[in-house]
Amino acid sequence: MKAAQGHLNDVIRFSAVDGPGNRFVVFLQGCNYNCIACHNPYTINECDSCGQCVEPCPEMALFYDGHNQVTVDDDLCTNCDICIQVCPTDSTPLSKMVRLENLVRQIDEVSPFLSGITVSGGEPTLQADFVASLFCSIKCSDKLSRLTTFVDSNGSASREVWDRLLPVMDGAMIDLKALDPDTHVAMTGEHNGPVLDTIRYLAEWQRLYEVRLLMVPGRNDSPAVVERTARWLYDVDPSMRIKLIGFRRHGVRPQFADIPEVDPAHLEELAKIVRSVGIKDLVLV
Ligand code: SF4
Ligand code: SF4
Repeated sequence: MKAAQGHLNDVIRFSAVDGPGNRFVVFLQGCNYNCIACHNPYTINECDSCGQCVEPCPEMALFYDGHNQVTVDDDLCTNCDICIQVCPTDSTPLSKMVRLENLVRQIDEVSPFLSGITVSGGEPTLQADFVASLFCSIKCSDKLSRLTTFVDSNGSASREVWDRLLPVMDGAMIDLKALDPDTHVAMTGEHNGPVLDTIRYLAEWQRLYEVRLLMVPGRNDSPAVVERTARWLYDVDPSMRIKLIGFRRHGVRPQFADIPEVDPAHLEELAKIVRSVGIKDLVLV
């Protein structure tokens, strides 16, 4: 099904960390997880127009429109993020609906400098029809079809959703927060069964660009747990690319700010364990 509009949080015109090469990144609003280590918590929920961020805005850039919606004057907004900090529901008044052709035009403007586009979030597969329409527009354009199309996802989508994306998607980066189901629930609020199935399914279709393992001290970073996780991934695909990421506090919500950051020496130890099971394509961040 074609979707002409998507709910956009923001875009980055050039990124070197969201897939291979230089990428235009589209962050979509809304996520079905509530991860303790989320660095973009304002992408999780839809704004309910409670109005609590209007008054604190130092530029008076926010106001109610005639339909009791909070809207922003882009000319006044300085992106100070105060509205995001005061929002009680992990949202932002700055997200907006974007028309497909508008987004494609923005990509087109910088396309000579790009290797591809990545759709991230939030959880982009919650807007799968829009993502499929966007990727379709890229693949059907004479000028843009050389760009690769990637999804950065929590892996919770069903096979039916991936089936809608696979014809126009070149690759996916999938987060695996924990192999242990209970730990996964504790870290995200949701079970990991769909994530494990996504990893198997995308590997089968050779669209799994990488699996990201975020190491959160005291939660999922014991050597035994990391070894078990690496063995499971190796069994899915011995040529699997894994990105081992040390937890950093930047951007996380205040209630999780006491989680310690990963000691780089510990991360190196974990990397040795991952390599010891046979994984060769390992990136440390
Ligand atoms: S962004 Fe948050 S604080 Fe502002 S109106 Fe929406 S829900 Fe309320
Ligand atoms: S980021 Fe939010 S608080 Fe800051 S100027 Fe823009 S609308 Fe106002």
